[in-house]
Formats: sequence, structure tokens, C-alpha cells
Amino acid sequence: MKYMTAEPFRIKVVEPVKKTTKEERQAWLQEAGYNAFKLKAENVYVDCITDSGTSAMSTEQWAAMMLGDESYAGCKSFYKLEESARDVFGIKNVQPTHQGRAADYIMASIYCEKGKYAVGNMHFDTFRGNAEVLGAIPVDFVIDEGLDTASSEHPFKGNLDTNKLQKLIDEKGADQICVIIITVTCNNNGGQPVSMANIKAVSEIANKHGIPVVMDSARLAENAYFIKTREEGYADKSIKEITREMFSYCETATMSSKKDGLVNIGGLFLSRNEDVFLQANQLAIVHEGFITYGGMSGRDMEALAVGLQEVCDEQYLEYRVKQVKYLGDKLKEKGIPIVEPTGGHGVYVDGRRFFPQIPQNEFPSQRLVCALYEEAGVRAVELGACAFGSKDADGNPIWPELETMRISVSRRVYTNNHLDCIAEALGDIYKKRDEYKGMKLVYEGPITSLRHFTAGFELL
Ligand SMILES: *Cc1c(COP(=O)(O)O)cnc(C)c1O
Repeated sequence: MKYMTAEPFRIKVVEPVKKTTKEERQAWLQEAGYNAFKLKAENVYVDCITDSGTSAMSTEQWAAMMLGDESYAGCKSFYKLEESARDVFGIKNVQPTHQGRAADYIMASIYCEKGKYAVGNMHFDTFRGNAEVLGAIPVDFVIDEGLDTASSEHPFKGNLDTNKLQKLIDEKGADQICVIIITVTCNNNGGQPVSMANIKAVSEIANKHGIPVVMDSARLAENAYFIKTREEGYADKSIKEITREMFSYCETATMSSKKDGLVNIGGLFLSRNEDVFLQANQLAIVHEGFITYGGMSGRDMEALAVGLQEVCDEQYLEYRVKQVKYLGDKLKEKGIPIVEPTGGHGVYVDGRRFFPQIPQNEFPSQRLVCALYEEAGVRAVELGACAFGSKDADGNPIWPELETMRISVSRRVYTNNHLDCIAEALGDIYKKRDEYKGMKLVYEGPITSLRHFTAGFELL
């Protein structure tokens, strides 16, 4: 397939984006309290705030939507989704939910126990919120290399540290751990993959001690592609063979289909434990909808059934992972400090190394988000002092280890020309990086772990 290095699709429908002036963007930033979540999307030129729910759907998906069966119970669209999900996960019992966080909520309600530990590589914030509400103690046991943004080139920085897990079991007793959750890929530290060997090792420890394993699988196909290309023994396996093996090591899986489902909304809860599945059905009926739609419309289930198949296409995944790496390489050429190797769904810029003069309590990564929007109309997101900061019992701030700006790349949406704009703008900001000062947090909501969505800032 020599020469065929372009995108594995052509464009049939386009959505115009608006060019704006720096003066306009400065005014909009100020109105938004220097919080990118409060900007109007129409005033964004390249939107990289998230890869969630932003995928472009294919002709096959749009065609499938016309077949949506909107019957309340037992609709055809559910059975198509069930078949597609069984094929990819290798798990028989499939409950749709309206988004990933609803599946998180159901999972947390079933597995979390008050005062017991929920161990993860790095928990996603919606699960963390659910666990805290239910009184469980979420702990992140990602390997140390996973927190090292500067030097480590570890191929699986999303791995869960089995020594830390074993130590907790030895010190507290296995009965004090209610669940182990492996998030694939690991979003918080760079969309970093988890190796098959690690998933297997964690599940062996868990099985020995009777602890259930759950996989939070929003980006399951990207993780499988990294296993295929980086882990010995998987080069000749198909993506679905790899996903099925990944999920053979867990009891239950949750998925936000807004990522690797290649759709704009939806989620899944799957379990091979019949009792757990029956409980999930009950919770779905109360909170989501009847068990054969769980908050999704028939047409959305049709689109997801097709999307789950398309995302396992290797030509798609090769393009996907290479496009993210393309942006990472462009930034590296300009000397910009990024998390390496680049992960599955975005490039993470190290805010502390970019702006060494701005201390963490003055939000260096948030400053960078604002600078990038101001300069080029590109919207990224802070994953650092604001999003991951917490407080001790006396209300004193605890600053997180990771301090990054995530540039998420939506699936099948932007061309490499758009990514070039980002690289050019960031390169220019980097050249004059000494001129920037930090920011002051002037408003935050009552729930610290969710403050980044509504926070207000001022420039220092
Ligand atoms: C997005 C995401 C969720 C939450 O899903 P929503 O569809 O946004 O509700 C949960 N876990 C992970 C790993 C995610 O990426």
C-alpha cells in the first residue's frame, strides 16, 4: 500500500468554521472568565477541548440511522447493537446507557462499598465523583513512569503498578478492596495504553484474592492498536482478537461510546456476571430507560452498532494514531515539551516545562490554553492544577503531579492542515514564552473535582 498515506476516507459533507481576529478572541476570553469551557463553540477555529462525542460519522452510520427502530421494548436496533458489542467485547450481556457516566454510576453503585478502596490505574473523573458520593476511596496506582512527563519513553504508561496493588492487599487485606478498575487507554496522563501483560497480571492478582475487575473502555480500539504495534506477540492478531482477549480478563466493562464508538452520544455496561447484570438492568430501568434502550434512541444504537465495527478497522486506527503522532512530532520539532510517547487521542503539553516562570498555584497550563485560543482560535483543555487540584480536610490546596494542556484530536474531523495551524501557533507562543505571567482563580464551584467546568480566572 505504498503511497497510500492519506486519510482513509474522503469528505462528502462539510461544516464551515469561522475565522476571527485576535481582538475579538481577547474580548471573548475575558467574557468567558478565561475558561475555555465557557467560550461559544462557533467562535472556535479548531476545537480540541475534547474527543468526546465529536467524531464524524460515516456514510454507513448515517444510513443505519434511518433504520432506527424506536419501539420501547425489544427494538431491532438494540439487537444489532448487542450483536456488535458482543463481537468486539466477547461479553454476552449488554446494557445500553445514555452516556459513559451513567454506566459508571451503575457500576459504582454495584461495586463500591463505603470505606473500601476502589483501585485504578487512573480513575476517570466521573467514576471518581460517583465513588466519592458512595463513600468508597478511589486510589490511582499507575506506574511511576506514567507520571513522568519529562523523560520516560515507556510504551505502556497506562499500566497499573502491581507492586502498589499487592502492597495495599498485604497492608489492608483483600476484603478492603471492593473493585479494581483498569481504564483503557489511560486518559489522565496522555491517552497512554495498558499492555495485555499488565491487564493479565492485574487480573491474576485480583482473581487470587476474589476482587472483581472492571474495565473502563472508552478508547478500547486505540488501546488494542497500541498492543498490536508495541507488544510482543500481537503483531499478527486482529484488533477484535485483541479486544476480546483484553476483556476476557475482566468481569464487567463500561464504555463511553462518545469516543471509540465513533458516535455523538451513548454508553454501554457489559458483564459476564449474571447477578451483576440483573442489578444493572434494574438500575438502568430506574435511571436510564428500559433495558433494550437505556436512554438511547433506536437510531443512535444503530449508529453505535456500526461505529463499533468501524473503529476496529486497522486502516482507520493506523491513520488515527499516526495523525496524533504527526501533531506531537511537529511540536517536538519546535522544542515544545510534550508527554512522550504520544498517546491515542491527543497531545499533552507539559505546562510547567513550557512556562517554568509560572508556579503551579498560578495555573501554567490554563495560561497556555488561553494563550493558544488568543493566538489562533484553537481551544484545548487544562488537565493540571485546576482540573486535578484537590483540597485537604482543612481546605488547603493539594497540587497534582500532572500539569498539562491536552490538545484532543477528534476522530475523522480535522485534516493535518488544521494540526499545522496548532503547531505554528504554539511554536510562536513558545518563542515568546518569557513574556507570559500566571493566572488567579477567582471563582470555583462547591465540588473541587468538577471545578474546571465552571471556574473563573483573571490574568496576573
Ligand atoms: C468520557 C469518559 C467517561 C464518561 O463518559 P461520558 O460519555 O462523557 O459520560 C468515563 N470514562 C472514561 C475513560 C471516559 O473517557
